Amino acid sequence: MTSPIQTPSYQGSMLMIVAPSGAGKSSLVNGLLKEDAGLKLSLSTTTRAPRPGEIDGKDYRFVTKKDFQLERDQGHFLEWAEVHGNFYGTSKPWIESQMQAGSDVILEIDWQGAQQIRKLIPAVQWIFIFPPSIDALEERLSKRGQDDEATIQRRLAAAHIELLHAHEADYIVVNDSFEQALIDLKHILASCRLRSEPVMARNPALLKRLGV
Ligand code: 5GP
Repeated sequence: MTSPIQTPSYQGSMLMIVAPSGAGKSSLVNGLLKEDAGLKLSLSTTTRAPRPGEIDGKDYRFVTKKDFQLERDQGHFLEWAEVHGNFYGTSKPWIESQMQAGSDVILEIDWQGAQQIRKLIPAVQWIFIFPPSIDALEERLSKRGQDDEATIQRRLAAAHIELLHAHEADYIVVNDSFEQALIDLKHILASCRLRSEPVMARNPALLKRLGV
């Protein structure tokens, strides 16, 4: 088990986006990143094969199972999980350096990873994305044409399990209208930036003047 990360002076915000495959989470995160230059995306490592168009170092760090296990055993991952038969992990050194720099970071991970991160970094905010329906999920998974039928069916079964963890999140955004869901995410980010912990960490001089 990775040791907890100390956060009392973390000046930034950390958001975790969790959703079943096909809920439109990556498009929403990309939309948010495009409009908010201050937000940084955690690049996950995976043993999954790249889908057509995916780029190593941009979408994921694609590694072999052997390399993943080696890095995991060396404590490189803050959290890791097996999802749909592949391993995925979040870089611990990257998260630590971003927290030290006071950056706002966003992680796209599954519920297992979110549970682990919450234990290690209690200030993290968990956002769950709901699809408007199971039919919409299936349609989006089929339409993107990146997975075969067996993979789509496996992802749909996993979607049900993922959805059962929605109640653990701090926020839920329903991705019915993409535009509205993006607005909701922007509001959540704005509210996270106004949480007492990061605001106090960012304003030590003001706290001093106020005698707090
Ligand atoms: P995909 O293969 O469709 O890109 O991702 C499959 C699932 O793995 C998604 O739920 C995604 O959020 C999750 N995932 C991606 N990166 C990570 C990670 O670093 N850690 C964990 N725990 N899950 C991840």
